[in-house]
Amino acid sequence: MRILIIEDEYRLSNVVKKGLVEEGFAVDQAFDGEEGIYLAESESYDLIILDLMLPKVDGLKVCRELRNKKLKMPILILTAKSKIEDKVKGLESGADDYLVKPFAFAELKARIQALIRRSHNEADPILKLDDLELDPAKHIVKRSKKIIPLTPKEFAILEYLLRHKNTIVTRTQVTEHVWDYNFDALSNVVDVFITTLRRKINTGFKNKLIQTIHGVGYKMTER
Ligand code: CA
Repeated sequence: MRILIIEDEYRLSNVVKKGLVEEGFAVDQAFDGEEGIYLAESESYDLIILDLMLPKVDGLKVCRELRNKKLKMPILILTAKSKIEDKVKGLESGADDYLVKPFAFAELKARIQALIRRSHNEADPILKLDDLELDPAKHIVKRSKKIIPLTPKEFAILEYLLRHKNTIVTRTQVTEHVWDYNFDALSNVVDVFITTLRRKINTGFKNKLIQTIHGVGYKMTER
């Protein structure tokens, strides 16, 4: 899952980015409202973290602009403004959640997981397909109750495929949602990761998960 942080305080932005990258997210940063709108429109984000007091275009305007452009990803406002009327204004501008600075990283993380879950209409916090289970918050993958150790990127790819189970996912989609802005999209790195991922989750099991749809991408189908 890929997140955009729109925040003009470099230190805070970098701390949040570092924490989220450690949690397996791909993260891009914008340092003013204008750059934020540009990136949100041109890249593929699963969630946006948005500050309110921003140079060039303020956060509420950014939020309204993104919703006017029909962008549907969850928006979490992160701000020092703690008055009820500020929260109400934020939510009325199209934001989905609101967290007041200073905040605990654990709470930010939990809210992000909940927002992503809701944006995919998932009720269960554990993603499941047949005997495979993935816990996005705890970073655990199990098949038939046995833990399968995965690298962060393998985990992120599997999470993306599971959130889109029963539909075809293209290589471009995987690339855009698992890697950040600096990734070279021309490489065949996705195929390489899928090969090792398949070996790890399928070895010893009859039902082979992750089909290749020739020339298009991949699919995880429920039996
Ligand atoms: Ca600010």
